[in-house]
Order: sequence, then structure tokens, then C-alpha cells
Amino acid sequence: HQFRHWETKIVKTTCGYCGVGCQINFEVKDNTIVEAHPALVKPNVGLLCVKGKFGFSYVNHPERLTHPLIKENGVFRKASWNEALSLITKKLSDTMKNYGGEAIGAFSSGKCTNEENYLFQKFFRGVVKTNNVDHCSRLCHSSSSAALGKTLGYGAMSNSVHEGFDSKVVLISGENIRETHPVLGTKVKHAVQKGAKLIIIDIRDIDLSEIADVFLKINPGTDIALVNAMVNVIISERLYNKKYIDENTEGFEALKESVKDYTPEYAEKICGVSKDDVIKAARIYSSDVATTYLGMGNTQHINGSDNVTALSNLALICGNVGKERGGVNPLRGQNNAQGACDMGAFPDIYSGYQKVDDPKVKEKMEKFWNVENLSPFAGITVVEMIDKISKNEMKFLYVMGENPLMTDPNLNHVRSALKNLDLLVVQDIFLTETAAMADVVLPATCFAEKIGTFVNTGRRVQRVRQVVTPPGEVKMDLDIILELMDRMGYKQINRTPETIFNELCEVTPLYSGLSYSLIEDEGVQWPVINGVGTEFLYEDLSNLKRKFSLIPVELVNSIEVVNDEYPYYLSTGRVLYQYHTRSMSGRVDGLNEKCPEPYAEMNSNLLEKISKKDGDMITIKSRRGEITLKIKIREGVKDGVVFVPFHFSSALVNELTGSEFLEPISKTPEYKICPVKLI
Ligand code: SF4
Repeated sequence: HQFRHWETKIVKTTCGYCGVGCQINFEVKDNTIVEAHPALVKPNVGLLCVKGKFGFSYVNHPERLTHPLIKENGVFRKASWNEALSLITKKLSDTMKNYGGEAIGAFSSGKCTNEENYLFQKFFRGVVKTNNVDHCSRLCHSSSSAALGKTLGYGAMSNSVHEGFDSKVVLISGENIRETHPVLGTKVKHAVQKGAKLIIIDIRDIDLSEIADVFLKINPGTDIALVNAMVNVIISERLYNKKYIDENTEGFEALKESVKDYTPEYAEKICGVSKDDVIKAARIYSSDVATTYLGMGNTQHINGSDNVTALSNLALICGNVGKERGGVNPLRGQNNAQGACDMGAFPDIYSGYQKVDDPKVKEKMEKFWNVENLSPFAGITVVEMIDKISKNEMKFLYVMGENPLMTDPNLNHVRSALKNLDLLVVQDIFLTETAAMADVVLPATCFAEKIGTFVNTGRRVQRVRQVVTPPGEVKMDLDIILELMDRMGYKQINRTPETIFNELCEVTPLYSGLSYSLIEDEGVQWPVINGVGTEFLYEDLSNLKRKFSLIPVELVNSIEVVNDEYPYYLSTGRVLYQYHTRSMSGRVDGLNEKCPEPYAEMNSNLLEKISKKDGDMITIKSRRGEITLKIKIREGVKDGVVFVPFHFSSALVNELTGSEFLEPISKTPEYKICPVKLI
């Protein structure tokens, strides 16, 4: 797009890709984004990654959905908004009448704004009378939320993205930070270049492994043995912070007892790392204020919550919680994953983590929303909804901005389940894999067309401004939900992003004190106290409502393990140049050139074992399906492990992963352990 800078206008907004939440000044000419510049405010302070800087051309992509679609005899036809919304509301009413709210499910979205997520769950809870509301955080960090809610209090990052730059000691566990949260990864790299110590726990090398002081390349699923062994060393060498433990925690004696057998020798045997490295990592971790970043390498396991609890124990015994540059920090993947959780896009909570089964909360919400008979029972989760659909017990599914036909485990099961629905509605910006299966498709707005707020992974609530106006007949997502509310007979009084934000702040104690004017120049981190945001949580330890909990956790083996027939472990993850299901990044030429196709990474030991070489095609087969793709040699992958990025529809790795075994508390599927054979 030809332009001169004097011809453009500049609009500042929040990046629509990852949870770092970089602030971007977009230059716009003729309703088209022509350039992106990093803003000099937190959290990115002048930095952008390749996706933020160059990944915006999908906004004007010719494949954008521009009008509603209705499927007839297996073929989509163009429909008017009136037709599409009438069909949806008729089916909704019929399903409510014939089967009740439990037969209806709704997937909200970590890509949509807080205002959209809040209104979406309000509509389904208050009007449709179902708590079957969930979103894809279920598939990634709900284990972290569950664990940290219990051990510390808040199920979110305790510290801030911008603190990464000045870290003293950094532990990165199960998180390829330079690819998944690139700007934060850069800050950590700078910290290490300035002298910070770095410990990495992973099943394969990441971009920072070479500069790490210790790289613990563990066997899949053995995190607890390793972290407990670090706790063991810190206790036996008296490297812990006794005063902090006595004053602020409970459960130390039980923890001490529980880690007795988790010696460095035991970790060496179970995790496949040297015992000296375990000792070295424990000594480094306890040598100064340490921050922990954790990712889906921890959470997407049958014992995901326990993995996070183990890291929380480690941080607490060293007194790292409630300190700048410390804490336990789960890194949220999507631009507004944190916000979707905060807004109650979960089956068991209203906004601000207020429990649906608490009678006082129910009464408060009924009064505030002016509705009756809110369900006092928690709804079901993403994977449970798919199971219910497969049994013909759920008839109607509304999907806003999610693509379960790529993100969910055991995709063949998902695909056949979705065929059972009476009506599948998908609201999205492109005809995604899931939208292609829908009965009704509603064209939605992308991040650059929205007005509202996103919350970054560090609890920073930030403004989202309209950079360009949407194409064709596309309606603002908020307006689509408002129209559904109107047609279903609910009188929603607040109808603009700002008034809806004010409404949600009023009913959500966690958001008390927030307003558009407060976050106008630079975002503010919740909770807001006396008009000021909280950069790191738990600073005033004397003010803790309860002491932090040290909770013993034991290593539990995965249910599905390798055997003679399926002798290798498959693990999945992300790459820098693509984003989630590629619905956006896959429509940006520059990003595709950098990472155009799927591949299977393995080291040369494994290649030798299976008599293949770099660049050969390979079929990976699990108990649920098979995919064929190209081999890419990567020496840094753990022996016996094959790694495949999950972005590509041409090799749907989630056809292999399982949905049978869920983490018991958070119901997160075990994506990271999948026994396979290689053919
Ligand atoms: Fe966007 Fe994340 Fe890159 Fe920042 S790091 S520019 S938020 S994708």
C-alpha cells in the first residue's frame, strides 16, 4: 500500500495476537493499516515482535466474512442479518422450551474484548438460562488459575511483563517464551545479558537455552519430580527463607516431609537430567529474588494443577511472592485470555471469579441484571460439552471467535460430535474450520475494528480502539449480542462499550475502581486500590487475608504411557511466526513465508532408530488418528520425543491428542503427553 506519512492518521491500540498486550501505534490511510510502530508505554515500551509489527494485513484480506451465511442442503448461501438472527433466536427458544438451558452450550473467546465476554456470558446465563459457558483458557491455563487460586489467592500472574527486563533470577518452565510471548522473551534475554541468572525446564531446547545457566531437559510429564527435588535441596541446604515462611505461609512441615524422597538422585532417574544440574538450579534459584514463568508445558497434563502448585511451593519457600521481579507467572496465550477469565467466560463463575453456586452471589446477580432463576449449578467445560453433544444431549452450540475444530483434542471425535447438533452458530472473521461446519455464520469484527478493553497476561487492563471500520455488512460483536438480547426479550440498558464496561466494573469487585478514563493513556493492572493499579500482587504481606498455602504434591504418572506399540511421546506447541489456528497469521504472506508448513521435530538419535533422515516424510500415529508431515531435525529435542506445532490444518496434530483424560480440577486435556508410533 503506497503512502506518505503525512497522509496517514495514527491510532493507538492493543495488539490482537498474544497475551503480552503490546501497545501499537497504527498508521492508517484510506481505512487500511499501512504501518505499525511500538508505543513507548508499558508493557512493551518500544518493542514489538514480528507479528505485531508486520502481521496486520489479514484485516483487509479478501476472504474476510462480510455478510451472514446460512447453510442449506450442505451449501452456504448469503443471508440477511434479520434472517440469520431470527433463525438463531427461534432455535434458541425452541431448544430452551423443549430441552432446557442444559441443552445449550456457548464458547466465548480469549480474542474478544472484556465487554463482549461479559455481555456474552450475561446473555447465556441471564436470558438463555445456561451456565454452559466456557472458552479456550480451559485448554491452556485453567490449571494455573485453579492452583494459584489455592496457593496464593489470585489465579493470575503475580507480577508484571515489564519487570522481566530487570530480573535477577529467572526460571522458565514449559514455556518457549521467545516464540510464544516474544516481547517478554526479549526482555528476559536483555536481563540475562545484564547478568541475570537463567534456569530453563523443558523437553526441548528453546531460543534461550544456550545462554541459560542451567537447562534441565526433562522427560515429558516429570516436572513434579524435578521441582520437588529443587525444594528438597533448598530445604536440606537451608537455603530457604525461614522468616518469610514463618510469617506468611502455612504447611511448611508437611511440605518438608513430602519432598524427602525427591532427592536429586531420584530426579536424575525419573527426569533424565543430571543430579548436579538439579542441585545447581536449586542453588541459583534461591540465590536472589527469582521470578518464575510457566506455560502449557506445565498445565496441559493430567497433573497440570499440581505442576503449578509445585512451582508455587518453590517460590514461597524462597520468599519470592509479593516482591518486585519475583512471583509465579503463568503466561496467558491469547490477547484477552486473562480478560475472558476475569469476565466469567467459565461455567462455574460470574465475572471476577464470583461463584455461580454461591446463593448470595446468585441473588446479587439476579437483582443487578434484573433476571430470575439464574442456575445455581456450575455448567460444563469445553471438552465435556463436546462429549455431551456426541451423546445427543446438547442440541445447540454458539461459538464466538473460537475454532474448536483445530484447538480441541481428539478432533475426529469433535468433528463427528458437531454433526449431531440441531444448530451450530459460529461468529468469526473468517470461515474457519469450525465455521465451515456451522449452520449459521455471523461475520464479526477483528481487533482493529473493535472498541473496548483487553487484559494482558500481567493483569493490565488496556484500551482497544477502532483503527479501521469493518468491511461489508459486518456488525460489531457487541451489537450482535445486544441484538440477540433484544430479540430474546431482555432489556439491556447499557449499550456502548464504555457503559457496558462501567456496568461490569460495578458488579465485579475485582474491577472496582477501573474506568476508561483511568486507563486512557496507559493500561492499569487490577486490582485498583485508591485509584492506583497493582504492578505486583501481595506487596503488603501484613495485609494478606490468609496465609499462602504450601501444598505437598506427588508425581503422578500419565494414564496413557508409551508401550511397545506406541513407543514415543508426541508433544505440541507454538511457533513465533504463526498464531493459534492460523486464521489470522495464516493470511499474512510475510509470516507464512517464514513458517509455511507443518513439521515434526526430533533429534538424530530418534531419526537413526526409525531409519529416517531430515526432510523425509513421516506418519505419526496415535490411538486416535494419524498425520503425515515432513521431518525437521532438531538436536535439542529430548530423546524419544517428537514435537509438532499445532497451527496447521494440513497436519491436524489434535487428531492425535486425547480428550479422555482430563486434569481432575481444571478439566484441561493432556495435550502434552500422547504416545505415538512413527511410520
Ligand atoms: Fe503482539 Fe505479543 Fe508480539 Fe507484542 S509480543 S507484538 S502482543 S504478538
